[in-house]
Amino acid sequence: MSTTSSLSSTVGGTDAREHALLESVPSGLFIGGKWVDSADGSTLDVFDPSTGARIKTIASATAADGIAALDAAVAAQQSWASTAPRVRGEILRRAFDLLTERADDFALLMTLEMGKPLAEARGEVTYGGEFLRWFSEEAVRVAGRYGQNPEGTGTMVVSQRPVGPCFLITPWNFPLAMATRKIAPALAAGCTVVIKPAALTPLTTLAFVALLEEVGLPAGVVNVLTTSNSAAVSDPIIADSRLRKLSFTGSTPVGVALMKQAADNVLRTSMELGGNAPFVVFGDADLDKAVDGAVAAKFRNTGQACTAANRFIVHSSVAGAFASRLSERVGAMIVGRGTGEGVNIGPLINDKAVDKADSLVLDAISRGARLVIGGSRVDDTSGSFYEPTVLTGVTRDSEILREEIFGPVVTIVEFDSEDEAVELANGTEYGLAAYVFTQDLARGQRMIDRVDTGMMGLNVGIISNAAAPFGGVKQSGLGREGGLEGIHEYLSTKYTLIPR
Ligand code: NAD
Repeated sequence: MSTTSSLSSTVGGTDAREHALLESVPSGLFIGGKWVDSADGSTLDVFDPSTGARIKTIASATAADGIAALDAAVAAQQSWASTAPRVRGEILRRAFDLLTERADDFALLMTLEMGKPLAEARGEVTYGGEFLRWFSEEAVRVAGRYGQNPEGTGTMVVSQRPVGPCFLITPWNFPLAMATRKIAPALAAGCTVVIKPAALTPLTTLAFVALLEEVGLPAGVVNVLTTSNSAAVSDPIIADSRLRKLSFTGSTPVGVALMKQAADNVLRTSMELGGNAPFVVFGDADLDKAVDGAVAAKFRNTGQACTAANRFIVHSSVAGAFASRLSERVGAMIVGRGTGEGVNIGPLINDKAVDKADSLVLDAISRGARLVIGGSRVDDTSGSFYEPTVLTGVTRDSEILREEIFGPVVTIVEFDSEDEAVELANGTEYGLAAYVFTQDLARGQRMIDRVDTGMMGLNVGIISNAAAPFGGVKQSGLGREGGLEGIHEYLSTKYTLIPR
């Protein structure tokens, strides 16, 4: 692998276009249709993880701002719920069109605050935008049921109503798509929202909400809280009886804590939590496809995806060939600032993430794993870089097989029988995504049934799609985003009996 010269040349600064783009992003909270400072004037700094440089200072909300945002969402709820579904859908569609027009700006903004390579950021604009288009179409297709009761004495009407004001909490790793995957179905269903993006990457959400304002979203329908004090701002919102729904994407421990809080208020919850995806390669797999799939499933977003392949479980007959072909591809990867030409491995989100990847790799090596390539932090930069890495012969007691790595590290474990592969794949408390490579269709179908997962790629390394239900089983969460299912997270079922 190599590092680009842009690593050092951009340290500490941004160029004119980047500067102008950052200047254009609002720096306030968005409450009731107005951009405002936080109640006590506090601020938070946002950094470029590829340089460590501060790129913008924005408002940091207090608990009082949180309640003000909920007040605004509650005030707008009734009129938004009674706005025609077609009108709601058309606002989402205009948002899709304008986002598409501004794709390059949104991509660059994500690269600046989160670090992902520009081409991937562009891909996220496409993916994130699709939720706007998909739910603009779903807004007018919410159906109910109508029928006679079994006794023949009345008519039963089952309808779907918006659940009410929602609180949306999003992580830093997909700054646009995690926001649109929640905002679009909520708005389509007729719910108003308060959204709290991660403090590490709040700018994309601010820019996106400014875009929603531009396409005519009424005041109060979407409110944004950026804050460096998540718990202090979130706790009173979650405890407020006017809130009806909490949708969270983030780590499992935080999700569990929020579910406990939500229980006191009997809130509907959607929980998109952590993953530990197995990537199973059988002896009969097409190795070219498996290696392509591995590159996509592992190195996209520099390994910082909940769906990232975390454990490569490879049949012993092909483990050597798979490892050497994958390592060859890894050797050709270019590490650098996401804006650099040809860069495919950006920085990790911060130095803590680099420390974590490094200590997991060291632990695996100390327990017997063999390092094929990589295995070190990149030291000659002020950014948070870690080399793309391949480890083979990872032993089953290694920490790296249990933890979400969230970095560009491949861990290869060998197996000999299908039962062993299934046991290894399911040997985790998580169950978000899984990847299986085999040319035997019957085996593929058995794996679909046997692997405990919310989503599976059969001979493919990228599975996310706005038209598909995204979500996990076990400790990877509850509920589904996207697909036909996604809007139902924001609807509640009402039954009415009309006697004859
Ligand atoms: P995180 O759990 O640390 O934070 C997620 C969000 O929760 C952030 O906005 C954070 O500010 C907020 N938060 C943290 N503590 C809080 C509290 N006490 N009260 C209210 N809000 C709080 O996760 P992260 O590091 O931002 O994201 C990475 C994690 O997210 C990984 O575990 C990854 O697998 C998961 N993730 C899951 C999905 C999915 O769809 N399943 C998608 C992306 C990321």
